[in-house]
Amino acid sequence: MLLATTYEQVTQIRMSRFPEIQAGTSVAAYLVDGLLIDTGLAYTAEELADFLKDNPPRIVVNTHHHEDHIAGNAILKERYGVKLLAHPLAISRVYQKPHLYPYQEEFWGYPVPTNPEPLGEHLTTDNFRFEVISTPGHSDDHICLWEKNKGWLFSGDLYTSTHPDAARPEEDQWQIIESLLKIKNLKPRLVFTAIGFVISDAEIRLGKTIQYLQGLGQKVRELNVTGLSPVQIRQQLLGEESPVAGRTQGQFSSENLVRTFLK
Ligand SMILES: [Zn+2]
Repeated sequence: MLLATTYEQVTQIRMSRFPEIQAGTSVAAYLVDGLLIDTGLAYTAEELADFLKDNPPRIVVNTHHHEDHIAGNAILKERYGVKLLAHPLAISRVYQKPHLYPYQEEFWGYPVPTNPEPLGEHLTTDNFRFEVISTPGHSDDHICLWEKNKGWLFSGDLYTSTHPDAARPEEDQWQIIESLLKIKNLKPRLVFTAIGFVISDAEIRLGKTIQYLQGLGQKVRELNVTGLSPVQIRQQLLGEESPVAGRTQGQFSSENLVRTFLK
């Protein structure tokens, strides 16, 4: 299903394979002035293309290479001839069939490979100018788009909650903290997240998240020095394993959150 909501000149398009938008299985794309930021999952690619038929985008930017952000690329290119853009490191990954865990197959599905061009430092639409901000951590090819005059920050998967309790093994929490600091310092007025929240109190929320992650990371390092294993550190600092771990074949877990502080 697809659910559209308007914020100022931005249309949020939330997509889910399921008849309801469920946290964790849905993803949001944003349409603004002929620019589409992310293209969602394979199961809703055609629905997205149909939704955009009266106002098709000219440019598509993928915030990073993950399968739930790129799967509308192919049909939008085919139907509307959009220009696809992504971080240089994302290009070869978007061009390959990814390896997906069963939960990723179930929620999002396999994207048709496409071949985006490399993003520059900024891009312009008829009315707006977007700065491309490199924000590694969730993945090394992650970017945010910043429209300074409007105070809009499109944050992809960089921010998901003030107290994250699980992570994927590829993440790097120290890089995430650096990237969160970078976007907090921009003082965005509205933050448009791919998880679906639109945040108007970014300074407070991002500040809380940074403080929480810095504190957690510090304790993880201290316990690591005493010789505790990641599982023991997880038990001590975060308690029982997150229920998400079981549903994601262990990929998204509290233990991985601990490990991603130890890189
Ligand atoms: Zn992601």
